[in-house]
Amino acid sequence: MKITVGFIGLGLIGGSLAKAIRQFYPDSHILAYNRSLPALKAAKSEGVVDEIYSEVDYHFRACDYIFLCTPVSNNIQFMRLLKNYLSPDCILSDVGSVKGMIHQQAAELGLSHCFIGGHPMAGSEKTGYENSKARLLENAYYILTPAENVNIQKISDYTELISSLGAIPLVLTHQEHDYITAGISHLPHIVAASLVNLVRELDTEDEHMKLIAAGGFKDITRIASSSPDMWQQICLENPENISRVLDVFIRMLVQARCQVDQKDAQELYNLFSQARDYRDSIEILPEGPLKKSYILYCDIADEPGGIASIATLLAMEQINIKNIGIIHNREFEEGVLRIEFYENPDCEKALGILKKRNYITYTR
Ligand code: NAD
Repeated sequence: MKITVGFIGLGLIGGSLAKAIRQFYPDSHILAYNRSLPALKAAKSEGVVDEIYSEVDYHFRACDYIFLCTPVSNNIQFMRLLKNYLSPDCILSDVGSVKGMIHQQAAELGLSHCFIGGHPMAGSEKTGYENSKARLLENAYYILTPAENVNIQKISDYTELISSLGAIPLVLTHQEHDYITAGISHLPHIVAASLVNLVRELDTEDEHMKLIAAGGFKDITRIASSSPDMWQQICLENPENISRVLDVFIRMLVQARCQVDQKDAQELYNLFSQARDYRDSIEILPEGPLKKSYILYCDIADEPGGIASIATLLAMEQINIKNIGIIHNREFEEGVLRIEFYENPDCEKALGILKKRNYITYTR
């Protein structure tokens, strides 16, 4: 299918969407505006986009779809500008992490018939076009929030486009979106940042807490490495919902403190067992909200070249490694090298190869 797609902003998310569209719709015509030129030039030379612009102007009238992919407050400004250049059938979307403000703007500008908010539930701690990839969207939920007057045909066309890129569309109201993401994304980022700051504040002079911060601490605070600019913006844009879920969370923490103070064995047990049961009920499948990771552990001798020889061995078999590294803080006895893969077949194949070479390997 030949579609014309415009991008306003070509960073991590805009670049990943453009690459996915290029992959699944090779005949598509892709236009892009970006504030800085290097990303645009790179995208053009890689054949990801066809036309690059240093301004948002009438060229975008040719688009069937336009994606606003800059930070939320900038998307709002670009929406105002684009209003003059939209073709009557264009579907205008965004990728912002908060939806309330942009929907309000769409209503005020009279764009409620063509604006379908979008939020790919995929990302990375890294930003910029250079980190973008088509597979970022693969099997990720992609929330769509159609404005009030968008007709069914447009919603269906857009849902199909998202699904054809390998993502999983989920239609919600923008109010539902902002409440749900406050609970499962915005609050966890605040909690992760606060936990890291807690250790920074409480650590001993010789920084032993930092030194031995083990797997569990690292897992729960991974997202504290995200962009401070982006998360500052998100908190400023979704204050009511974040405040509402924070209140409940603070109440739960106070409850936990009472249980600890009172040595309430039964309630403490309930705290952990209820959480464990609910956590285990969250599907860790490609389609589930938690992405499954494919990891193997391997004992290697602590000598130069140990990691390199395994990486070479796997590379020779065309196995794609997502992440590789020594674990210094082990929560279980065996295996010092942790290797993560994109796909399960790669993990299985690597396991076979390493076993054959007499490496001692483990999976969990
Ligand atoms: P990014 O930094 O990789 O890209 C942002 C883009 O916006 C860049 O092209 C940059 O040049 C442009 N930009 C920034 N400020 C601008 C300005 N003042 N004027 C014009 N252009 C400007 O960031 P990203 O992660 O791709 O985020 C883009 C959008 O995607 C945001 O709205 C964010 O809420 C949303 N989002 C991000 C993630 C994530 O995990 N990174 C996930 C889902 C949605």
